[in-house]
Amino acid sequence: MTSVSLVSAAARRLEGKVAVITGGASGIGESAVRLFSKHGAKVVIADIRDDLGHSVCKDLNSKSTSFVHCDVTKETDVENAINFSVSKFGKLDIMFNNAGVIEVAKPNILDNTKAEFEQVIGVNLVGAFLGTKHAARVMVPARHGSIITTASVCSAIGGVASHAYTSSKHGVVGLMRNTAVELGQFGIRVNCVSPYLVATPLAKDFFKLDDNGVYSVYSNLKGSLLKPEDVAEAALYLGSDESKYVSGHNLLLDGGFTIVNQGFS
Ligand code: NAD
Repeated sequence: MTSVSLVSAAARRLEGKVAVITGGASGIGESAVRLFSKHGAKVVIADIRDDLGHSVCKDLNSKSTSFVHCDVTKETDVENAINFSVSKFGKLDIMFNNAGVIEVAKPNILDNTKAEFEQVIGVNLVGAFLGTKHAARVMVPARHGSIITTASVCSAIGGVASHAYTSSKHGVVGLMRNTAVELGQFGIRVNCVSPYLVATPLAKDFFKLDDNGVYSVYSNLKGSLLKPEDVAEAALYLGSDESKYVSGHNLLLDGGFTIVNQGFS
């Protein structure tokens, strides 16, 4: 009996933890919601897609998953999502800043408008800033927590996506590094996950991906496709106590892509 219960405990790596996942209604975020829930976490989905968010909650059929409408560019929305986590589930252990957008690629900077640039920076970078800030607001007094932000391979190299997207993903790594230094004294770990191309709605639209297409051209790791579930697994590791000494790290899930590419056009 003892060994059976030990195995079950190990299989539920987030037992007793509470997470907020922005962009949790679709793609990588949705996979993280499902995986975190499977591993025993209580999860708040914070997203602008109320229809999809409620549908994920319904599908999980669990009192441990809730949806809250949250536009990560709005500070009051982010503040409310964190407060909701505390009021509903009593605390916040894991903040997963995952919401993101990508805009139409315009390789020539002269074609880029300030409004388009600000829109991407607003969601991807300012959204991560607000999520990190309001997570820290409740994690600092609790003296523990794990903050994870979805960056991208575009955080490490140029020439893959638009100027705004690349800037936003380099930016979240800077934010992560600064806050890892600042918040470590309170037992709070701060990290990024940086996926290569994943066939979510975001990337399918932007890169014109089908389920097999572009991977074989660009990936360094032949025969292996990166899936939303793989990124969720990396976030699970960073949110769990198994990564208790990992902070200030940008975990690249790129099959070695950035080793051999310094950008392409
Ligand atoms: P997705 O479009 O499937 O999911 C993005 C989610 O973010 C959606 O649920 C959307 O409603 C939500 N969202 C958008 N704007 C929001 C806002 N203002 N406030 C709250 N929620 C908002 O895309 P995805 O591929 O799962 O993207 C998740 C993250 O992964 C993004 O940060 C993206 O930049 C990053 N990423 C994706 C890839 C890829 O190839 N798919 C690669 C590297 C990094």
